[in-house]
Amino acid sequence: MLETICEVLEDAYKRNWITSRDGNVSIRHHDRDHFYITPSGVRKQTLQPDQFKKIGISQGSHVSPIAIDLPYTDISANLKPSGELPLHFGLQREMGQHSGDVRVVVHVHPTYCIAAMHAGIDLSTISDAFPELNRYTRVAPNVGDVAPISQELADQCHKMLQLDKDGNIAYDIVGIKGHGVVAIDTSPWRAYEHIERLEHICKIVLASGKY
Ligand SMILES: [Zn+2]
Repeated sequence: MLETICEVLEDAYKRNWITSRDGNVSIRHHDRDHFYITPSGVRKQTLQPDQFKKIGISQGSHVSPIAIDLPYTDISANLKPSGELPLHFGLQREMGQHSGDVRVVVHVHPTYCIAAMHAGIDLSTISDAFPELNRYTRVAPNVGDVAPISQELADQCHKMLQLDKDGNIAYDIVGIKGHGVVAIDTSPWRAYEHIERLEHICKIVLASGKY
């Protein structure tokens, strides 16, 4: 699935949803005490599976688990994990409890989702009028202005997605004002489709001028 994540990021780049070094993705199999995350500062349109970082989840205190940089490949040894590691770590740590499942977290910067939030739209409010969105994708209330690669961004995203201690989330996607979106599902393309659907509806809403 790491190859599929590379394909997803290449597609996001072609759609102008990220510039070269933006965007990050993580993946965890439920029965593993580690997950993989894209590296920081690498061109995402040419990302390779051996560049991913392998992050262990400490089995120690559940109150303050620690992300541990595990050895993976020689190439990845010289790279750092994505700066949005706190966002991914908090989600992957809890969601790994779902037996039989893979969890993929995708963060990109889609144009019309960000434009809609900039125009004052709470993304959670637009899905009612669009069945092709609300049939398949649950949209969380926006996260407000928070600094990128911060613990606050991670905490606010977890809160708006209603991540609980059993690893459940109430929504599939959340927007971060002035920044981007975070989508979660059981495969890279499924997570990506939440973004694609929301982006399409945001484009329509903005084109209508009625919001
Ligand atoms: Zn970002």
